Amino acid sequence: MKRLILASNNKKKIKEMKEILKELDIEVKSLENENINIDVIEDGHTFEENAKKKAKEIYEFLLERGDKDFIVLADDSGLAVEYLNGEPGIYSARYAGEHGNDAKNNEKLLGKLKNVKKEDRSAKFICQLAMFTEAGEYYKVTGEANGYIIEELHGEGGFGYDPLFFFEPLNKTFAELTSDEKNEISHRGNALKELKKIIVTLL
Ligand code: IMP
Repeated sequence: MKRLILASNNKKKIKEMKEILKELDIEVKSLENENINIDVIEDGHTFEENAKKKAKEIYEFLLERGDKDFIVLADDSGLAVEYLNGEPGIYSARYAGEHGNDAKNNEKLLGKLKNVKKEDRSAKFICQLAMFTEAGEYYKVTGEANGYIIEELHGEGGFGYDPLFFFEPLNKTFAELTSDEKNEISHRGNALKELKKIIVTLL
């Protein structure tokens, strides 16, 4: 059976991706599951450059290791706030300096939006997926979710900016949704829905 290897070390992201992909007839594995200890440096200028770089480096490592029957999938994602001209964008994970410090990133975002009116707080999450098949074919898909940034944290679920991202159709922040609800409407869920159509043709 083929393995779909997720080129990420972000445990929360991996959990979501595994949940969304679980009905596919393919084993979904993390880098940790595959004993791969590589932290790809994200020095691209766009989500796509970063996603492609992550997928490609892991793809090349697997080829060199002599692995067979695999597909590599990377996700580069982030939040773009209109009032901030698309910030934090590709710097979402390290907006406040230290990589992956969600609390500090949220605090910085709230500071930047202090006294900004609700109608100017619209934002979107973007998920760029990049995939390499074993034969070196490259596929890319983007997913988005629209919302706005509220003034204080709400909810305990999800990760990253989820407690500040209010999704009007469900009248909740992403952190107040169940994981099934989030996966149904999130940028990652939307992108993976499209990518699944491609993956099934490769099995
Ligand atoms: P990446 O791992 O370089 O793609 O960075 C992703 C960063 O974007 C995360 O650390 C979060 O700050 C943010 N992000 C991406 N997806 C989500 C999400 O689903 N919810 C909340 N924050 C997210």
